[in-house]
Amino acid sequence: MTGGLLGGLRTALSSWRGRMIEIKTPAQLDAMRAAGLVVASALAGVAAAARPGVSTAELDELAEQTIRDAGAVPSFKGYHGFPASICASVNEQIVHGIPSRSQVLAEGDLISVDCGAILDDWHGDSAVTLYVGAVTDAERALSDATKAAMEAGIAAVAPGARLTDVSHAIENSIHASAKAHGREYGIVREYGGHGIGSAMHMEPFLPNYGKPGKGPRLRTGMAIAIEPMLTLGVEETVELEDGWTVVTADGSRAAHWEHTVAVTDDGPWVLTAPE
Ligand code: MG
Ligand code: MG
Repeated sequence: MTGGLLGGLRTALSSWRGRMIEIKTPAQLDAMRAAGLVVASALAGVAAAARPGVSTAELDELAEQTIRDAGAVPSFKGYHGFPASICASVNEQIVHGIPSRSQVLAEGDLISVDCGAILDDWHGDSAVTLYVGAVTDAERALSDATKAAMEAGIAAVAPGARLTDVSHAIENSIHASAKAHGREYGIVREYGGHGIGSAMHMEPFLPNYGKPGKGPRLRTGMAIAIEPMLTLGVEETVELEDGWTVVTADGSRAAHWEHTVAVTDDGPWVLTAPE
């Protein structure tokens, strides 16, 4: 373990095969919880506002205002040139949808909203999938399966567990939901979870599938964003010409849920859960 100065924050680092994983102190996790609550509040506002006739640009403005009113900064805005404070991914869009005045929500849309905020130099990152009015049973099942997979991943977070124990728990949950729902879900493979703390995207990368018992051991003070993405069709994805929006290759609908989770001696601490 070595000391490091990252983003003006003195943090400890745990080395795993040359990759440095940040270890937070209890006080630093408290600060991450404060950032996480800002994200939770922004997403709650967006969830309450998402209805037919509302544009995704309006949802973005609402999220940005909530974040700035809390004294925080939207982490997505300007991230590698991303132009907004949320990703708004509607229907066949999986992740990284760019909010737009011309994308007006309609009855039956399924939208995932991803949001990140920085408060006192610490990051929170979370996503929800929302129904605009009534959606089909298949779409509800899709979102339920995605959320259950995230929760299974969270439940696998413990000091001493290996990173891919979390991946395996996510994949097992997806298969269990598919069986229970009598459907097949596509597990998006190109994208996954990540370490988080003094930056949004840090080591380690967390796949949403795979065998258990591999990767670094989780240690108290680590934090990871757990974010499964599922489709009602194939797992293949396509990035649109805007350089951001990721859609399903077959046009099927997708869902995405995410929480930022800390490893503690008492088990997982969901830093982006609403109060
Ligand atoms: Mg996110
Ligand atoms: Mg994330």
